[in-house]
Amino acid sequence: MATTGYPGNLNAKTREFISSPRKILLNGHWVDAASGKTFDTLDPATGKVIISVAEGDREDIDRAVKAARAAFEDSPWSRMQPGQREKVMHRLADLMEENADVLAELESIDNGKNVAIARAVDIQLAIDTIRYMAGWPTKIMGSILPLSVPYAPDAKFFGYTLKEPVGVVGQIIPWNFPALMAAWKLGPALATGCTVILKPAEETPLSALYLGELICQAGIPDGVVNIVPGYGHTAGAALSAHPDVDKIAFTGSGEVGKIIVKAAADTMKKVSMELGGKSPAIILPDADLDIAIPGAASAIFFNQGQTCCAGSRLFVPDSLYDQVVDGLAAATATMKIGVGLNPENMINPLVSQIQFDRVMGYIDSGRREGAEVVAGGGRSGNEGYFVEPTLLCNTNREMKVVREEIFGPVLCVQRYSDVSDIASFANDTVYGLGASIWTRDVGNIINIIPKIKAGTVWVNCHNILDVVMPFGGYKQSGFGRELGKESLDLYLETKSVCIMA
Ligand code: ADP
Repeated sequence: MATTGYPGNLNAKTREFISSPRKILLNGHWVDAASGKTFDTLDPATGKVIISVAEGDREDIDRAVKAARAAFEDSPWSRMQPGQREKVMHRLADLMEENADVLAELESIDNGKNVAIARAVDIQLAIDTIRYMAGWPTKIMGSILPLSVPYAPDAKFFGYTLKEPVGVVGQIIPWNFPALMAAWKLGPALATGCTVILKPAEETPLSALYLGELICQAGIPDGVVNIVPGYGHTAGAALSAHPDVDKIAFTGSGEVGKIIVKAAADTMKKVSMELGGKSPAIILPDADLDIAIPGAASAIFFNQGQTCCAGSRLFVPDSLYDQVVDGLAAATATMKIGVGLNPENMINPLVSQIQFDRVMGYIDSGRREGAEVVAGGGRSGNEGYFVEPTLLCNTNREMKVVREEIFGPVLCVQRYSDVSDIASFANDTVYGLGASIWTRDVGNIINIIPKIKAGTVWVNCHNILDVVMPFGGYKQSGFGRELGKESLDLYLETKSVCIMA
């Protein structure tokens, strides 16, 4: 039975949700896949099946797009008064709050992550995102244009802009923060009056499907949000190529991002991309190491390193190198490794066998290329996908582990001697998502930040996200900004209106 092995204190709603196969949310109804096919979602702590889920494919995507199109063209949603849309979105946020423990447990079981952190970070930020976005429908507005048409000097014109929803939106999300990514995508789409086909990652469909239940309960009209679980190369590919989808929003790997951009090009869809990273964490010689060492550890080991902005390249000055490496090694030794349902376990399994093999492959590659494994470096336990928090020291820019995104609990430590080189070291990557600087000197902050090519720069912290703070990448980390006011631009068209009096 699916729930066998879970502790007795698991929420009754969580148990119920994973006690029967889950389906596709299509036009307000839960349906099987057109093919009748299903796939299993696994618990990464054990590798065992949690439950089977309908496997959406091209035909299901097509139905969902039709539902979203109909809902967009005649919907009470896009035509609903902004104040009313705001209320419905607040109702959704209230329901998420009421069900926050269930969402956190589903996230923990499906992704592997720590349940208390899921509740405090992932689910809380997801709720905050919907609430913040609920405030926007009443504040989205165009402007009056002071026209002076040079070739019609005697005529009188009145010009203004309207901000209109972009239309039917396909949203493809990853497995590292499943509920949070769903909220980042759904929030601005709903606030602007778009309709949506959301495709959760095949590894972690459960929290998005539970969110679908709450979306129905909140009174969001049928067809406004359709949720189609399924594989990337089938359901995801069908969504990105569908001719009746106006926009694709994607979070995931650069490889898949490139495939989606190409697929979307044929029908000139609008596209926004939040892709990978190889973010630098830079300890400057004057840093307060009591903050910088635990900060650098959490920058990489939070969520097992499965964070697109993880601080995966640590730069340490020669003068502090031994102290920092010793401090990090001591920090990893205290991190309890184990199942996410026990909140004391700070290192939880990676999401899948594929990710486990990938990360272990990178650790081997680091060893072969001469990196010194100062901590970790191996598997933990005999079942599930646990990898020890790993420190690869004396790494350099030529190594694969330094150049490529590992997406696991593996920190590459590099030493440097001259602070004037640090911005170019930090920028020595195809990515540009995040960066952190650890210093007490305001002069360093002012000098270095403009030189760093990254969408977010943190000072004396890392991985801090907030709904008002735009998030996104430079270079191959993508384009477009999520969260904050900027995120609305991704979901709006501007219509210019010119009236001759
Ligand atoms: P990760 O490396 O984080 O696993 P992926 O980029 O592989 O990320 O997957 C992120 C999302 O993209 C998932 O929902 C996945 O199903 C989807 N996806 C994978 N391949 C494709 C594709 N060819 N077209 C569209 N979506 C895809």
